[in-house]
Amino acid sequence: NLGGPVLSLVGGTTSLQQGLGALARIEEVRHMEIETDVDETPARPAGPPPRVTLQDVTFAYPGRDSTLDRVSLTAPAGAVTALVGPSGSGKTTVFSLLQRFYDTGSGRILLDGTDITALSRAEVRRRIAYVEQDTPMLAGTLRENLLYAAPDARDEDVARVLRDTLLDSLVARLPDGLDTQVGARGLALSGGERQRLAIARALLRRPQVLLLDEATAHLDGVSETALRQTVERAAEHCTVLLIAHRLSTVTSAEHMVLLADGRVRDHGRHDELLGRDRLYRDLAATQLTSSGT
Ligand code: ADP
Ligand code: MG
Repeated sequence: NLGGPVLSLVGGTTSLQQGLGALARIEEVRHMEIETDVDETPARPAGPPPRVTLQDVTFAYPGRDSTLDRVSLTAPAGAVTALVGPSGSGKTTVFSLLQRFYDTGSGRILLDGTDITALSRAEVRRRIAYVEQDTPMLAGTLRENLLYAAPDARDEDVARVLRDTLLDSLVARLPDGLDTQVGARGLALSGGERQRLAIARALLRRPQVLLLDEATAHLDGVSETALRQTVERAAEHCTVLLIAHRLSTVTSAEHMVLLADGRVRDHGRHDELLGRDRLYRDLAATQLTSSGT
């Protein structure tokens, strides 16, 4: 039971989201130490993108009523699957289970044919990278921000992820390039740039699966387009699951899963859901902007 003590360490004033983010970072550091001990490069690919399957997953937080009720969904390998649904419908919980912050009550979670409970938590988090909303930046250079979870990444890998996240032109414009200081006393990055930097950092670890909890802050049109392209390029290397808070960034997703009250209400393409699901149409009408969780 890894979740309890670490979550309480980060205190009662932080949200679960922040707590899980902190936990993911602690795990990332631990993971680094393990990799360093056995002299493996963290940039070693975890393998080809797997199909991610939830089979009849039921889950309740301790002392709570059912949070997920027989949730079954499949995220095809090497594609983008968007989770959408009202606040409280269980999107973040699905991500927590995928990272084994908690184990399912019943049902199974599979990466291709492998039940994730057959893998150590460290191995699960080597394979599955999580980019939370509003990822904090480290005080330091762009390079340090990119490399802290993958210190042995090769220059060509760094160049590749910068291209894939459309940050290459930004870096090229900076006199000090990757050695530019960021943060309060350095270069001010926009919300969209920060998010793409966080994705670049995650991709450098060469995960098989990328979980992306989209930022709620409004991105301008240019940033939204860049984020969409980044997500599509990420799916060339990994299976992407995206919690979408704004419809504008998900309409191009191959596959949408609509959650409501801890159940899968429907799944399909955006236009299919628009055509047949009233809840989906309501969400579309409000652009999903009110969902901040
Ligand atoms: P979403 O991400 O779709 O907004 P969540 O997965 O965060 O939904 O939450 C699903 C349900 O589980 C909500 O009713 C929420 O209140 C509850 N919940 C979320 N996290 C916890 C927790 N740590 N302990 C107890 N209940 C929780
Ligand atoms: Mg949430």
